[in-house]
Amino acid sequence: DTIGDNFDRTVAAVPDRDALVEVPTGRRWTYAQLRSDVDALALGLLDTGVAKGDRVGIWAPNMAEWTLLQYASAKLGAILVNINPSYRTHELEFVLNQAGVSVLVSAREFKTSNYEQMIADVRGKCPDLRSVVLIGSDEWNGLLDAGRAGDPAVLAERQASLTTDDPINIQYTSGTTGFPKGATLSHHNILNNGYFLGRILGYTSDDRVCIPVPFYHCFGMVMGNLGCTSNGSTMVIPAQGFDPEATLRAVAQERCTSLYGVPTMFIAELNAPTFADHDVSSLRTGIMAGSPCPVEVMKQVVDRMGMAEVTIAYGMTETSPVSTQTRRDDSLELRVSTVGRVLPHLEVKIVDPETGLTVPRGEPGELCTRGYSVMLGYWNEPDKTAEAIDPARWMHTGDLGVMDDDGYVNITGRIKDMVIRGGENVYPREIEEFLHTHPDILDAQVVGVPDVKYGEELCAWVIQREGSTPLDADAVREFATGKLAHYKIPRYVMVVDEFPMTVTGKVRKVEMRATSVDRLG
Ligand code: ATP
Ligand code: MG
Repeated sequence: DTIGDNFDRTVAAVPDRDALVEVPTGRRWTYAQLRSDVDALALGLLDTGVAKGDRVGIWAPNMAEWTLLQYASAKLGAILVNINPSYRTHELEFVLNQAGVSVLVSAREFKTSNYEQMIADVRGKCPDLRSVVLIGSDEWNGLLDAGRAGDPAVLAERQASLTTDDPINIQYTSGTTGFPKGATLSHHNILNNGYFLGRILGYTSDDRVCIPVPFYHCFGMVMGNLGCTSNGSTMVIPAQGFDPEATLRAVAQERCTSLYGVPTMFIAELNAPTFADHDVSSLRTGIMAGSPCPVEVMKQVVDRMGMAEVTIAYGMTETSPVSTQTRRDDSLELRVSTVGRVLPHLEVKIVDPETGLTVPRGEPGELCTRGYSVMLGYWNEPDKTAEAIDPARWMHTGDLGVMDDDGYVNITGRIKDMVIRGGENVYPREIEEFLHTHPDILDAQVVGVPDVKYGEELCAWVIQREGSTPLDADAVREFATGKLAHYKIPRYVMVVDEFPMTVTGKVRKVEMRATSVDRLG
């Protein structure tokens, strides 16, 4: 199926089920209503001359129109370019030109960002950009009106001319380790991924999925939206940006059965002052992914949020995104301690990064993956593509992993984050897990900083629980003494209020390393 055909198939199967609910505005669509608006938008855009392969940019926070455009552009065969809602002019200009965006759909503003003004500032510098449509403007409404009056046969003809391997989406990576790269993805890439991970979660048309993760990222638009529409489930938008309180409220109000988040989001929800006021008992499952998921947090998600079947997923933008996932019937132990097994129809292997040879089970190496999920390539960057995908189509992830005899994978960190202290490889993840066991520590991150004697030393960043006694380096080191090998005990400890984050909720270790070096002198 193409994404459009798959969507229409779901509409035909469950026309009257809820497809989309936008909680802050109270707007809701059944599948039949959603199709009617998606088709109107697609026909309206077709009318303005959007051709197959044209790049249509979307620069907006989570809102229903984002989803409408996702499906409308897929039906047209236009390549949707997801633009990070936190971008400012410099980054916006870069993406518009890098992807050659000709039509940009945007919200007027979000939080403190005046998108309209920023677009006006860069417009003259983006030669490919021929039109900008602001959601909710007269022009936007005009597009929908024109589309409603248009001829559905024209859209059907376009839809029938598309193939599943056509590029349909450019998604930029989170930029955790450097500048974001544009992964070019096909219908086949992302639709299969959404469908299969939804099957693993057991989604049916009775499921209602709360999606507080950004649509601009694959977690929202693939694992969220495509996971739902390919399985007939309901997409619930709790807020435009992440808000723990609004998320809990949406789950309670819409009786959501599934909830997504990166670990820091679940931590924020579990620690919301009003946590106990929200009835989240409808939750059955969900996905925690995107960065290492502390065991302690998983346990609380199961115990306090009642997400007995919650799964962990591992993946990356370049692989549509999910490569491995825990299964509903895996023991809690496996679900808290691994990122599960490979998804159906994909391959995963662990190799020695130096030799490229597969290592024995149980030994660490670079995780590589192959199959339908691997992107077509980085947009207009053949050299970077060739570095990431080898001639046999294996994607080299840059992540370190270990696979056990039963195929369960454990992610031990990123190759770039591994700290080598005095010749010993230290995986920050292990120290972070350990620091989570301290009763006064809410969240912890560990980075390596240069050291004359040992090459690198460990620096821990710690966020303390509210009202707990202030910690210092000595207290933390004392807590670790006798429990961790001496070379794994952080030399430096910095207590902070928050970590520098990407908008997808990942901790920016690159920035933390630089800041640590600055602060430590
Ligand atoms: P960039 O590639 O621009 O530096 P990024 O790699 O963070 O940014 P994404 O594609 O959003 O961009 O994230 C993929 C990465 O997130 C993976 O390569 C992995 O390092 C990390 N990750 C994803 N899921 C998990 C997980 N369950 N456990 C540990 N790490 C994870
Ligand atoms: Mg990456």
